[in-house]
Amino acid sequence: MGLANSTSGADATIRRVKAVTFQDVGDFRVTEVPKPAVQDPGDALVKITLGAICGSDLHIYHGNAPMDEGAIVGHEMVGVIEEVGPDVRRFKVGDRVVSAFFAVCGHCRPCQRGWFAQCQERAIFGNGFYSGGLGGAQAEFLVVPRADLNLAAIPDGVLDEQAIFVGDILSTGYFAAERAQIVPGDVVAVIGAGPVGLMAVMCAQLFGPAVVFAVDQVDQRLELAQQLGAVPLDMRAAHPVQEIAMRNHGQGADSALECVGQMAAIETAINCVRGGGIVSSVGVPNQVSADFPYWDFWTRDLTYRSGCANVHAYMRPLLDLIAAGRLHPEVVISHRMKLDEAVRAYQLFDSREATKVVLTP
Ligand SMILES: [Zn+2]
Ligand SMILES: [Zn+2]
Repeated sequence: MGLANSTSGADATIRRVKAVTFQDVGDFRVTEVPKPAVQDPGDALVKITLGAICGSDLHIYHGNAPMDEGAIVGHEMVGVIEEVGPDVRRFKVGDRVVSAFFAVCGHCRPCQRGWFAQCQERAIFGNGFYSGGLGGAQAEFLVVPRADLNLAAIPDGVLDEQAIFVGDILSTGYFAAERAQIVPGDVVAVIGAGPVGLMAVMCAQLFGPAVVFAVDQVDQRLELAQQLGAVPLDMRAAHPVQEIAMRNHGQGADSALECVGQMAAIETAINCVRGGGIVSSVGVPNQVSADFPYWDFWTRDLTYRSGCANVHAYMRPLLDLIAAGRLHPEVVISHRMKLDEAVRAYQLFDSREATKVVLTP
């Protein structure tokens, strides 16, 4: 596109747009980049209306994930379709859409079995060359490959500030709850009440537990967890393992949803479940390996599950649950800022002053 008006020279035809880019560790900046364009027949060009900063963006920010200089960051976004390739069937210009945080192929064996998170060609938005070289979501525009598969249409009445979460953290919270096999009457412990933990608190309640405990040490997060129906447990005031047992007839929880990724949180999750309990871990681990308590698992009949949310399987039902008024993920948003303020937004998020930041281009 764009070439139609060209009269002289190629430079005049390249439109520049704004995006948050990685310059160096701890140095993200709002810079101008070439406007991305539809290249493959299945691509859709999306004009982003809202992006968000995610905890996993901080892994790049702190240099714990490889990233190439100048690459665009961000993987949570909603927007409006601006252009589609000839093979796109489900979407047309003007449709409101939300993207999964990673793109899948749809034809490999894991995709065919519905295990999209294990797609053999999985590529993550906003993670640069090392994760498939896709564009990023903290930007004005994003090209989404195989749009029919990787985008979901946003139902009327669902706000951008709600829909944005189904592409990542709400799906992750649901994945944690689903894999904990919660049944009505269960006692559930959510370890960590950051954005993902708060989503897990909401999703756990869809399965009918008697009690959901939320363990954290940040006042604002504990208050939000309580507003969402959880019993807040401040780990600065009491040891969460003992506290849960004390409030539950001396028994551990039936399941623990671990939403932090630090070894101490995983240990708390393991120690706070009863014999036969399930630990469902979705926090991105901060270590490659550590001692695993095999003896404890064997003697106590424990189950340990971990992994990255199978987002594509959840986007549609979660959007329907939001539309029905049964989920309110937007409550985690603490800061609404402009894309131009991204540097400040990262500082606020990194210092935990902000629970969740959304950025408007
Ligand atoms: Zn994320
Ligand atoms: Zn695949």
